[in-house]
Amino acid sequence: MVFLIGAGPGDPGLMTLKGRECLEAADIVFYDRLVSPDILRWVRPGVEQIYVGKEPNRPGTRQSDIIEQLLEHARAGRTVARLKGGDPFVFGRGGEEAEALAAHGIPFEIIPGVTSAVAVPAYAGIPLTHRGVASGFHVVQGHESVDSPAVDWPALAKSRQTIVILMGLANLPDIVGRLRGAGMSLDIPVAVVRWGTTPRQQSLLGTLGDIEARVKDAQLHPPATIIIGEVVRFAKTLSWFGPRRTDVTKAQDGIPTSSV
Ligand code: SAH
Repeated sequence: MVFLIGAGPGDPGLMTLKGRECLEAADIVFYDRLVSPDILRWVRPGVEQIYVGKEPNRPGTRQSDIIEQLLEHARAGRTVARLKGGDPFVFGRGGEEAEALAAHGIPFEIIPGVTSAVAVPAYAGIPLTHRGVASGFHVVQGHESVDSPAVDWPALAKSRQTIVILMGLANLPDIVGRLRGAGMSLDIPVAVVRWGTTPRQQSLLGTLGDIEARVKDAQLHPPATIIIGEVVRFAKTLSWFGPRRTDVTKAQDGIPTSSV
């Protein structure tokens, strides 16, 4: 049996009860880079914990090797927990792992997790939808790659809905350029939130016109979630998490300035 478990975005309290139960039942655990170490405390003593994360810009464990190992241990009759950051089916390649398990007749369960796409904005005080402001949101990945279909940035720019971008920080100049090129206003508020929901959470607020420079000045690095849209203005009043919240509430009128 293999449990594909979403570990949530960082705050261990955001792991589901079912996810924790499955983790506690595991005979072996495979975990990714963005899984909080606090969550691994729930693994039974003596159970092997295997890191299969991929560091940015460095070769990590190959996806095919991860799948091989899951199959091998499940075939040996073990209860396998495969822990992924956020939700396993949101940019976590969980679909590919489930496909392989299904193809080999291995029973599996998917335990959804709280995705960073929703939790990180919430911890930064940004409601993704708000009556009269945004009637929906898009979640897209920001790193172009040959094995995933390209994002239709012009369509997003015209949608007037909130845009949430994961894995987009390294590509921020390109993303900003595409949205501006599609006619998006330079005044649209943008938030970049690093290590959201953890004690290291850091948020940077700006606009489409200045966010690149702010990110550069603050030397902000991944993992970060980018949120674009009018709802970002709410961060000024709704920011509630972390020691730095006073910086946000002290921001000038209009679009809040940096809250780093
Ligand atoms: N399956 C995960 C996403 C995996 S892609 C989920 O549902 O959340 C990894 C990307 O998620 C990172 O590059 C970053 O954009 C985002 N991310 C994950 N954890 C984050 C965190 N604590 N704070 C900000 N962004 C985070």
